[in-house]
Amino acid sequence: MHEGDPTNNDLLTGLSRLYIDGEYVEASYDEEPVIDPGNEEIVGYAPVADQFHLTTAVAAARHAFDHGPWPRYSPQERAQVLMRFHAALAGQRDRLAHILIREAGVIRADVWSRQIDIPLKHLANNINIALQDFSRQVCPEVVTAGKRKVIGSALVQRVPVGVVAAVSAYNYPTYLNLAKIGPALMAGNTMILKPSPMTPFQAILLGQIASEAGLPRGVLNIVNGGAEVGQFLCADSGVDLISFTGSEQVGKIIAENAGRNLKRCLLELGGKSPLIVRSDANLDAAAAMILRGFTSHAGQGCAMFTRAIVHNSIKKNVVDRISEMARSIEIGPPGASSTGMGPVISAQQRQRVEAFVQRASEEQSPPVFGGSRPTHLTKGFFFEPTLFDNVDNRSEIAQEEVFGPVGVVIGFDDDEEAIALANDSKYGLRAGVISSDSGKAFEMAQCLNAGQVLLNGGALTSLSDSPFGGLKQSGFGRENGREGFLCYTEVRSIEYHA
Ligand code: NAD
Repeated sequence: MHEGDPTNNDLLTGLSRLYIDGEYVEASYDEEPVIDPGNEEIVGYAPVADQFHLTTAVAAARHAFDHGPWPRYSPQERAQVLMRFHAALAGQRDRLAHILIREAGVIRADVWSRQIDIPLKHLANNINIALQDFSRQVCPEVVTAGKRKVIGSALVQRVPVGVVAAVSAYNYPTYLNLAKIGPALMAGNTMILKPSPMTPFQAILLGQIASEAGLPRGVLNIVNGGAEVGQFLCADSGVDLISFTGSEQVGKIIAENAGRNLKRCLLELGGKSPLIVRSDANLDAAAAMILRGFTSHAGQGCAMFTRAIVHNSIKKNVVDRISEMARSIEIGPPGASSTGMGPVISAQQRQRVEAFVQRASEEQSPPVFGGSRPTHLTKGFFFEPTLFDNVDNRSEIAQEEVFGPVGVVIGFDDDEEAIALANDSKYGLRAGVISSDSGKAFEMAQCLNAGQVLLNGGALTSLSDSPFGGLKQSGFGRENGREGFLCYTEVRSIEYHA
């Protein structure tokens, strides 16, 4: 950390309690250490919810939905409260940033823009979207009623679903939590949020801010804990909608259990996103994008371009440039301003990455670069940027999500082959094409089975109104934009005649 950075006491003051029914609640017995992935030190002890806390939190959200003012407020009234929440959050940007550096291992260079300002932008947009009128009047029909004729019609409304259980992942924690809080609450739902137990403090801070912003009690409850806490929430009969972001493996368990009770669920899951680089691509831009695709946030992003599909005529050239560029990435503590890549989240996650790399080295060939822990860092869960070339698209390293700084390069000879390779994946979150022929790239985008396609790097930001989400085993439902907002609503049709 740097001189002038807050101490742990400043950072974590008031964050040792759960937020349930508008009150701060002590954890009765359990507290879990939260480890700083950059130095393996304990950041703090986070409260863990027990069954009593969870039952109380669901009952509070249920009561706030069934009897409280929140679902009955107009969208404008809800917007006023959430705009205060947004403003209070913006006022705590620096504290939030330092928590994210410590508990999530986000590097200083990325933390404000990617992990705070973009989520704040999406929150503001979700507030605005909810102010649109989504109701519609059904085209009237003339109906015979005895001896007279009347006009029958209906008003189709978008209404909240009810109580939302939101369970989120560790990698972009504030982004994910706000992407759920914004649309869920603006649509008039109430909710219980459970962050990853590895990144709890930023979520507990959100509860503190929501309380200061004047959210009525029970509307937003924040609990913490691991798989068993998530399981409890997802199974509770008081919950109407599960909004889950996490791995495909846990997503399947949640979907299976939800199916048994016909409970609605939104699943934002993993990916192995393909980036097609045509022979007419700008080679430096392509190399930089491929490198960012597996090293940004140490490879811990669901939609990252970890599978580069590069035209054989330029492949060697591109791989040479990536190798050259990778040498200049400074691996180091997340808090240092010169750091270009930080650690993965935990010792367990690093072991998982190492196992993937070892199997790929045995089954294919050794990586072009990387493949080990950096020798100059003895503490922290660091791993070198690692690239495999000439990879078989059917191999484990090309098909499975590693969630570490590991990329693969696969060669192709014509556009049809590139599309077939890109689509040959169980996932369908994001795909990309790099080409100086933008018309051809657009045509190829029509053939790619992904929820989002970026042409030549896309819009260069996460657009607030462009929906994000997956096809196939990357899940279902959308986040952001109009489509994301509507996922937190149900349809009610009120029919009448005159
Ligand atoms: P994870 O699936 O291990 O955990 C996610 C959350 O689920 C955590 O809060 C965890 O405590 C909880 N959980 C674990 N088991 C559970 C169960 N049986 N029932 C209910 N909840 C349970 O994921 P992670 O390691 O935190 O995050 C990485 C994964 O998240 C990657 O696969 C990544 O692709 C995915 N992800 C997807 C998106 C997206 O928008 N598509 C965004 C970020 C991360």
